[in-house]
Amino acid sequence: MSWNDEKVDKLKELWGKGNTASQIAQIIGDVSRNAVIGKANRLGLSKKNNTVKIDPNVNKTAHISVLVPNMSGCKWPIGHPGDEDFYFCGKEIIPGKPYCGEHCLTAYRRKDNNNKMKKFFKLGTSSE
Ligand SMILES: [Zn+2]
Repeated sequence: MSWNDEKVDKLKELWGKGNTASQIAQIIGDVSRNAVIGKANRLGLSKKNNTVKIDPNVNKTAHISVLVPNMSGCKWPIGHPGDEDFYFCGKEIIPGKPYCGEHCLTAYRRKDNNNKMKKFFKLGTSSE
């Protein structure tokens, strides 16, 4: 699949109207939900334009439970802190690490953050 101007315009329009990524994927056709999300992120389409309403009474408990810092799972943040759908990964962590295997790799692969991360999580001294 590929993005052309027409699809991008459609994506912007539908996103602005508050359609979900999967709805947009269906309407545009020929793109996956993940592709829609990825494209929307690259275009900088703000979630604030998304008018999908989340019932605070339904989701509050769940959100609070995932935001508890002492949770046992992976603490990799997904999304942006403060957003309604921000949460932590929560998968099983690697013993001694704050993240699951996947996110350990992601975290320590980021060169910019490498030293900061090591310091922050006191991961010992490597000879690098
Ligand atoms: Zn994770």
